[in-house]
Amino acid sequence: MSSSSSHNRKRSEQLYEDALRHIVGGVNSPSRSFKAVGGGAPVFMERGQGAYFWDADGNRYIDYLAAYGPIILGHAHPHVTDAICRAAANGTLFGTPTEHEIIFARMLKEAVPSMDKVRFVNSGTEAVMSTIRVSRAFTGRNKIIKFAGCYHGHSDLVLVAAGSGPSTLGIPDSAGIPVSIAQEVITVPYNDLNALAAALERWGSETAAVMVEPIVGNFGMVMPEPGFLEGLCRLARDHGALVIYDEVICAFRFHYGAAQTYADAGFPDLGAIEPDLTALGKIIGGGLPIGAYGGRREIMERVAPLGPAYQAGTMAGNPASILAGIACLETLSQPGVYEKLDALAARLAAGLAASAGKHGVPLTINRIGGAFSTHFCDHPIRNYDDAQKADGERFAQFFRLMLDRGICLAPSKYEAWFTTIVHTQEDIDETIDAADRAFAAM
Ligand code: PMP
Repeated sequence: MSSSSSHNRKRSEQLYEDALRHIVGGVNSPSRSFKAVGGGAPVFMERGQGAYFWDADGNRYIDYLAAYGPIILGHAHPHVTDAICRAAANGTLFGTPTEHEIIFARMLKEAVPSMDKVRFVNSGTEAVMSTIRVSRAFTGRNKIIKFAGCYHGHSDLVLVAAGSGPSTLGIPDSAGIPVSIAQEVITVPYNDLNALAAALERWGSETAAVMVEPIVGNFGMVMPEPGFLEGLCRLARDHGALVIYDEVICAFRFHYGAAQTYADAGFPDLGAIEPDLTALGKIIGGGLPIGAYGGRREIMERVAPLGPAYQAGTMAGNPASILAGIACLETLSQPGVYEKLDALAARLAAGLAASAGKHGVPLTINRIGGAFSTHFCDHPIRNYDDAQKADGERFAQFFRLMLDRGICLAPSKYEAWFTTIVHTQEDIDETIDAADRAFAAM
């Protein structure tokens, strides 16, 4: 099934007009808007199955957006769908604990052993926000150090120099955040231990935590340079600050575990010393809303009802998200899954690189297993500054050409492409072919 013709998206355009009347900006998350790729109507999807989704006009797309990461099994994976149906049939919310929460907590702890205790929440944002509260409660300090271009959700403290959607829309420092809060956040460049050391030298005694995406997914895919995570953890500890790993994208993306257990899976050692707290989300919900955070026992025991740091949720640990999450992780624990994600992405990235080279289009691809980013530039991407310098207009042009050929990417030069376990080699080759024609047209 080839998708060589330019798509007609009239229905999406009508729906967008309608949506604009009722939903702010027509979208329920700003990263879904096409503002950064020339504006106009985003594609309204109607149905997803496997590696494809179909829009409201009936056009089919090969999906590399994967809903910004969670859809690692593809759409409507039968094992997850069964779990969701079971949850729906047995009651979706009780407001009481359930046994499945224990089963799932145990699964997460086995995969991410730095977490002695876990708490489920409803999104990555909540997970991160909660780790910050707990780190402050534990240390009695207020400041947080984060890295420019990392994205940690939309809570107040982390919308300073935020990558992903905020950068895409040119608002890395959100409005609506009091100066009194923003001044509790210190931002330093990723992969820059000297800058971190200088920040800690100045604010170390006030710093509750250093928060990092141990492998970055929000200004492209960026690996920590050798020694960076190790140095980060050492410096933080020297100053009595906690280390928070935001593994909302990383966990279960590259192997059955997190970036902090990367070496255990036979990958190059990132020197990722165990963090004090970890935030999880995305993949662990199998496509349903979820987040989780966990960490060292004595820190987590500061959380209510054991301790004075309050954090709660009516929907937290709801049976549908928990059962979908268990089903997703069960599927990901099967042999060969991550090898497949990696092989598909390797084939795709190599094909894109070869084609871009052939057409003289400068393209920097950072690939880590089944995730990679495409920056239109000829310099390496190792921090947010590098990513900002990549050509956004070229990306926009490429994005549109790909969309018209039935290939769906995130509408932002900062976001990653994700492979799923249901993409086929034919999908990859169709995508390379579409890209080849796009590069030729550019
Ligand atoms: N942390 C990271 C690293 C993320 O990539 C994201 C979402 N892109 C979040 C936190 C926030 O998660 P959510 O959108 O589920 O609130």
